[in-house]
Amino acid sequence: MAILDCAIIGGGPAGLTAGLYTTRGGLENVTMYEKGMPGGQITLSSEIENYPGVTGEITGMDLMIPWPEQCQKFGLKHEMVEVSRVTKEGDIFKIHRADGVVDEAYSVIMGTGSRPRRAGFAGEDEFFGRGVSTCATCDGFFYKAKEVAVIGGGDTALEEAIYLSKICSKVYLIHRRDTFRSAPNTVKRIKSIENIELVLNSTPDEVYGDNMGVTGLRVKNKSGELREIAVPGVFTFVGNDVNNQTLIQEDGTFLCEMNNQGQVVVGLSMQTNVAGLYATGDMRLEAPKQVVSAAGDGAVAALQVISFVDELLNS
Ligand code: FAD
Ligand code: NAP
Repeated sequence: MAILDCAIIGGGPAGLTAGLYTTRGGLENVTMYEKGMPGGQITLSSEIENYPGVTGEITGMDLMIPWPEQCQKFGLKHEMVEVSRVTKEGDIFKIHRADGVVDEAYSVIMGTGSRPRRAGFAGEDEFFGRGVSTCATCDGFFYKAKEVAVIGGGDTALEEAIYLSKICSKVYLIHRRDTFRSAPNTVKRIKSIENIELVLNSTPDEVYGDNMGVTGLRVKNKSGELREIAVPGVFTFVGNDVNNQTLIQEDGTFLCEMNNQGQVVVGLSMQTNVAGLYATGDMRLEAPKQVVSAAGDGAVAALQVISFVDELLNS
């Protein structure tokens, strides 16, 4: 395979937009590596209402469906494979694929996003996929007309609790504080929904069940009092960890500078401290964690890459 002008790792809003801008901007040999279906984590969202120009009740999947076709119209290639590691030798990046193939590129745009964090209570791992879930759109329907618990107090927990309240008979929203880390409008909305009970200043102590799955959750409040909540489904939305494993080198160090939260350090042009390496979307420092900003990052990085490759090959 010829050396790629640009390798894009990840096919979420950041990677797809980087693919659109690099190819439409004239780079002819650009490949996007996405281990699953392109679209990214927003495809798991039951509703998105803050992407400009897109109005009405639409799901994250609805939003993302047209993106790959538009982005591939100008020549972006898509390899459905996981990238295990990105390294650099001289001016050339090596893209180590999980299938054992190593591709080469003059530049790399990282857009591997983030993944749901585990809350860390007893039984969470044991019952994961058997009553404990991190995806309301995927699993909410299993609990139609039943009661469920939601753990967390950020935008995701509140929005997904609202979604579940339309399917389930009751939602217990369990949050460790008495104020939320969410948009004021969403907080106002959640307080007005009759079948959502707020269980505040409380943390999950243990989720338990039998060989059929979850039967209940025990929570502990700040005074140490325990409460049993009999539910067959527990949804956890307690934040995300950055997918930065691809940047870890054989000796355990990172290819580029990272901050102490594992996010990639970039400047305003999404440039890392390694020439030709850019990081975009949820994985970069101070990311607003929005589809619109991830897409914006992808466009910014792509425009830089076009000049970078031109200078590298023509100087
Ligand atoms: P991601 O969307 O995480 O995409 C990264 C992609 O990289 C994934 O497709 C993954 O499969 C792929 N990948 C990862 N590692 C590798 C690898 N090694 N090799 C190959 N491929 C790899 N934002 C909003 O603006 N509005 C909302 O209403 C909203 N609601 C949300 C609701 C939920 C439930 C969640 C989870 C998030 C929500 N967000 C919302 C946040 C938004 O989804 C993210 O900010 C955005 O998707 C980040 O885009 P990204 O391209 O950086 O990463
Ligand atoms: P988040 O903002 O980090 O919130 C995580 C929540 O989980 C916090 O309320 C936190 O409590 C709680 N928590 C963390 N660890 C916990 C534990 N071990 N046990 C119990 N509770 C725990 O994560 P998020 O809600 O997934 O949002 C991530 C980013 O995506 C945010 O920037 C958010 O704005 C964005 N997002 C935006 C939208 C939108 O724009 N509509 C929708 C979804 C997500 P504390 O509050 O006490 O820390």
